[in-house]
Amino acid sequence: MRILFMSDLFSSYESPLRKALLELNVTAFDMSDKQHERVHEVEFIVCSPVKVDDQLIVQDFSIYENNKAVFSLYAGVEHIIKNPSLDRPLVKMVDDGLTSGMVEWCVAHTLRDHLGIDRHILGQDGIWRHHIKPPLACDRRVGILGLGTLGEPTAKALQFLNFNVGGWSRKAKNIKDVRCFHGNDGLREILNFAEILIILLPLTKDTYHIINSETISFMSRNSTIINAGRGDLIDDAALLQNLKSGHISKAILDVFSIEPLPSTHPYWVHPKVTVTPHIAADTPVDSSSKAIARNIKLILDGRDPKGLVDIKRGY
Ligand code: NDP
Repeated sequence: MRILFMSDLFSSYESPLRKALLELNVTAFDMSDKQHERVHEVEFIVCSPVKVDDQLIVQDFSIYENNKAVFSLYAGVEHIIKNPSLDRPLVKMVDDGLTSGMVEWCVAHTLRDHLGIDRHILGQDGIWRHHIKPPLACDRRVGILGLGTLGEPTAKALQFLNFNVGGWSRKAKNIKDVRCFHGNDGLREILNFAEILIILLPLTKDTYHIINSETISFMSRNSTIINAGRGDLIDDAALLQNLKSGHISKAILDVFSIEPLPSTHPYWVHPKVTVTPHIAADTPVDSSSKAIARNIKLILDGRDPKGLVDIKRGY
């Protein structure tokens, strides 16, 4: 059995994945990143987006006729889904380390915004503003678009801190002490509910520019938007316009339509925007190697892997 890496991260993953497979008593395998060698022996593909001259390469999965599955090293799979040569099950990354990172990043920026921490950190000017009292989480409504692998634990962590939490998904959900909205009708309700809106949606044809001038108009004045999903979930022109008008008070953005965000982009210098360079959640090599190894074992045992993508749905 051959595991082929279509990724420039092979050197980082080779040893931890080998170890993780051996720990599961999967012993008869070899690994390579040589895409044109022994193609008939390839039974699993591990991939991540590869860029050449700043352009994403469209990888060719079609020549691996014995391939059983394609594993994405990332949770976002919008690029791989579009690949016309993908005709095998696609498995996105589901990993506790990745989830913890995202929960921590979202909680940190929610608390930062909620408590107005910047006010006391930036531009200290010798004025003792003792009259500005910190609010309590129970008085703050936080809405989360996307209640999946990353959104649901984020909702629970914020609820644990006593925030008034709501969430939105495609299908109806029931999460203890979280107000759950779903579907098209629910979108308007969650946008109306949220003072801080966290976006943890995948990018699909249904979610492209889901935050636009119309949907922003459903949000209360002075709301904050935190986007850790994908850049194209937001219509940037609409967001900039609403930041200018004051309808949206702040935007904390980790993901962008073009990455790296061009140095001339207005977000970089906007006083109401925080840019972080797509670092909300990293995929830790050790834990994600274990996740891939467990999934290989599941497939070899004739079971479904964790993180199986529904290609039609787009995530
Ligand atoms: P999941 O697939 O586990 O969850 C997606 C959630 O979005 C689900 O709750 C789903 O609803 C909901 N959803 C999808 N489409 C719609 C729709 N049209 N209407 C309403 N709800 C919808 O994804 P993850 O939680 O694993 O990841 C979310 C995204 O986070 C990734 O796709 C990726 O883009 C991004 N990401 C960003 C990282 C970063 O560092 N910034 C790191 C990792 C991921 P339902 O539950 O009903 O299916």
